[in-house]
Formats: sequence, structure tokens, C-alpha cells
Amino acid sequence: MTDQITFPDVVSLAVPLFIAAILAELFWIHFKGRGGRYETRDAMTSLIMGAGNVASGILLGFIAYGFFMVLWQVTPLDLGTAWWVIALCFVLDDLRYYWVHLFGHRIRWVWASHVNHHSSQHYNLTTALRQTWTGTFTFMMVVRAPLILLGFHPAMVLFVGGLNLIYQFWIHTEAIGKLPRWVEAVMNTPSHHRVHHGRNPRYLDSNYAGVFIVWDRLFGTFVPEQEDEKVDYGLVHNIGTFNPLRVAFHEWAAIWRDVTRPGLTVGQRIRYAVMPPGWSHDGSRSMSDGIKARHLARHPEAAGTPGFETAAPQPSPSARTSA
Ligand SMILES: [Zn+2]
Ligand SMILES: [Zn+2]
Repeated sequence: MTDQITFPDVVSLAVPLFIAAILAELFWIHFKGRGGRYETRDAMTSLIMGAGNVASGILLGFIAYGFFMVLWQVTPLDLGTAWWVIALCFVLDDLRYYWVHLFGHRIRWVWASHVNHHSSQHYNLTTALRQTWTGTFTFMMVVRAPLILLGFHPAMVLFVGGLNLIYQFWIHTEAIGKLPRWVEAVMNTPSHHRVHHGRNPRYLDSNYAGVFIVWDRLFGTFVPEQEDEKVDYGLVHNIGTFNPLRVAFHEWAAIWRDVTRPGLTVGQRIRYAVMPPGWSHDGSRSMSDGIKARHLARHPEAAGTPGFETAAPQPSPSARTSA
């Protein structure tokens, strides 16, 4: 079995490209007077989060890599390193990314790590670098296990994962409108990913794709950017801080506070950690479906339009008490 395989560290190699693209976007916005906004404090926080993500990879990356190497020792399969194997690995890993990203929005434990990527109220190329410090603790490395057990070498799996991240960099911009129809149909684009960063009720829980938007179309989570509804970037409850430590750890702290509240059952404590963000034992908070339902109650004409295909308006408080 081939254990000694090395692939280039593409993300590190791409850093000069990231910097050049950020400068180009800054110039574009400055001279055109449109195509996005930069706020110095916000951009600095994003860059610090990016650097911290690299540091946490150096400090904690061995945990995931060790897990992958154990799987590699266990599996009898080895697909080798032919170009088509790498291409297939890239596509299957993108499917892996879709599910990890969906879990990142639908399981609070995973959201605690991913939330910081959404914590900026701006949308520019620095937002792409606003990455987690705590990904290891989500245990989402298990979603990569099937790839390695199928015979894709761990180094290859990490290599295509790096390519996936690099692809997602350039889509974090308002400077690019909609692309030709076939591109928007198949690929994740600035337009599709702007929607993913939206806190508008219509745009919540949509467009989880990494590279290929086809996964969202396939699994029913696709919402196209609406000409008449500008994306409002950020979190449902914005955290209002540029402090990198708070950005990195605030949701973990919030989970801790909820899980250790007095007077809850064990089941309720567990649900505070694993239910979707916004779940509460007494219904005092709102999950995304509740937010969509409330929006529909106020705007019934939106029923059936993109983002509201399945949501039903919530009964009014009076109807609920009489029921
Ligand atoms: Zn996300
Ligand atoms: Zn993003």
C-alpha cells in the first residue's frame, strides 16, 4: 500500500494570490465606487481569523490526519494516484463538503465552529479568509472517512479539500454580478454564495455548495439571488464585535451557558448542543423555519417563492391559545 505520497500544500501556495486579489478588489471598489464595502476593523478581524485557522491546523491537524492514517491502514482498497482518481476524489469530496457545511448550519455543535465565517456584516474577499479555529472539535473529519475507506489516499483527500477551499475564495465578492447561465447552473458562484451569507428569512439555510451548486439543486436547498431582494449579510443575531477571541469562541460559550442551566433534563441539555441553532427547551427562541414562518405570516404573498417553497405561516398567538 502506498503510504509515502505527497501533494503540494496548495492553500499556502495560494496565499500570495489571495493578497493580490484582495488588493485588486479594494482598487476596484475604490475607483468604481461600487462592488462591495470594506471596513478596516472588519477586514483585519477576518485576516486574523484566517491566520488563526492556519495556526490551529498546525497545532491540531495531527488529530484528523492521525484518524485518516488509521483508516488508511484498515482499508484494503487503494485507488492509486491516476489523474481520473484525483478528479473523482475532487467531485466526491465536494459532496462531502456539502454535507459538512449543511451540518455546520443545522447542528449547533458544528455551527459553533462555522458561525464565525458568517459573523461579518460585509461581503468581500477578506470574508472568505474568516475561517474557524475550532473545526477539529466538531468531529466532522468522520465525514471524510468513506473517501479514505474507498481507497483515496489521505494526502489526496486533503489536497482536493485544499483546492475546494481555494475555489471558494473568489466567490466572496460583490464585484461580480451573475455569470453566464451554464456557469450559474453548475458551479457555485458569487451570486449563489452571497445568498448563503444572507440573514434575510428567504435566504436562510440555502446554497451549502462548495464548488458545484448542483448538490443544492439535487437536495432541495438551492435559492437563487433575487433581483429585488438585496442580501443582508451576517447572522440572525449579529454579535457586534471585532474581537477575534469572541468571534472564535462566542457560540461555544453560549452552548456552555445553555447546557449548564439549572433545572433542565439531560435530554434538554443534549438538545441545546445538537439541535439546530435557535432551538430552546421552552420555545422562546426561533430556528430558521420559525423565522421563515413568521415572515410568511406578515408577507403571505411570498408563499411558494424561492426560499419559502416549504415554509408554512405560523398561526397567530391568538389562534395558538384557542387551539
Ligand atoms: Zn455557511
Ligand atoms: Zn462563505
